[in-house]
Amino acid sequence: MTVPIAKLSFWGVRGSTPTVDPATWRYGGNTPCLELIAPDGTQFILDCGTGLRMLGSRWAAPNGGKAPETHILVTHYHWDHIQGIPFFSPLYAENNEFHFYSFRSKFLGRDSLKQVFEAQMALPYFPVDMSAMSAKRKFKEVDAGDSFKVGENKVTARWLNHPQGCLGFRIETPAGTVAYATDNEPGDAKLDENLRELAAGADIFINDAQFTPEQLETTRKGWGHSSWLEGTKVARQTGAKTLVLFHHDPDSTDRMVDSILRQAREEFDSVFAASEGMVITLGAPGDKVQAHMPGTRTALRREAQFHAKVCGVTEGGKDFEEETIVRDISLQGALISLKHLPRLQSELQVTMEAPGADGVQAMNLRGYVVRIDTGTEKGHVAVGVVFTD
Ligand SMILES: [Zn+2]
Ligand SMILES: [Zn+2]
Repeated sequence: MTVPIAKLSFWGVRGSTPTVDPATWRYGGNTPCLELIAPDGTQFILDCGTGLRMLGSRWAAPNGGKAPETHILVTHYHWDHIQGIPFFSPLYAENNEFHFYSFRSKFLGRDSLKQVFEAQMALPYFPVDMSAMSAKRKFKEVDAGDSFKVGENKVTARWLNHPQGCLGFRIETPAGTVAYATDNEPGDAKLDENLRELAAGADIFINDAQFTPEQLETTRKGWGHSSWLEGTKVARQTGAKTLVLFHHDPDSTDRMVDSILRQAREEFDSVFAASEGMVITLGAPGDKVQAHMPGTRTALRREAQFHAKVCGVTEGGKDFEEETIVRDISLQGALISLKHLPRLQSELQVTMEAPGADGVQAMNLRGYVVRIDTGTEKGHVAVGVVFTD
């Protein structure tokens, strides 16, 4: 018997507008776009922010291209959730078939999302004519409260508290449940209840964490967003298993997101900060959630031989210290073999011995765990770190 597995990939995690500031590259600058492949092969895309372009450039048609249907759920029509559409190359291939789901906006009326497509592609905003989009496109209106089946999966939509409206989606697959609640602000009793319904018992609860709790109470009140603290509260109240902090503010540097994540982990056990390239596997045997980020960003790698002392925190939250050899290093990071299993997205203190003019010198670096590979070497894990100073 094979165990059902679902794969959730993060292609865009930034809120409001894309960022290209080097201070934000670790979590990523593309706006919201997620991909969920259910155990039956159904491909869902959640939102069409600028991350959608990246998904398109690594496109693998679902079901090996045999019944290449993709189901795209759009939460609302703010720029950051639709801007990737004209740049999504699979829309220009006639073998592909896309089913779009979104709500009827009172500002647009019937066929709201179809109108959004046409407006985005109109002259002089975009040079390519709509007729070049040769993939089959079907548009379905979703109302809050709706529940429908796609393959073996059940999708439920609920209103969230956000200017001009936003839908939250809950997708129940045989491998586990994902609740996607981007763009929402606490404070409306009925809509807060909707959020709890979406999150109830979810394996993965993705929630808006754009602002700090202090901002949310003062300068950013009424802007339609939430905080890490709200996410941890809702996760606790509803029995959600893992919280993913999402929709990072464009003004939040990686350091600020690190600090947000650290605080959230003090309030709730299983928390990640969404980052571009992160993949979460649901339903993997014997394991809860696995999350990793591809190592493609640590380019220009060189083999090396540095003695190093590494201090950090394990998965179970215990401090550890061990001696090892760093064999693979780049300007941005290193791949370190460890006996301890550090926590993903935690800090490691790496002290390396490097030959200098006056003999061997100690070099102190702060590393941030972006990747963990178990099973490469017996009794060891390969830990990918990015140096943050
Ligand atoms: Zn947004
Ligand atoms: Zn919005």
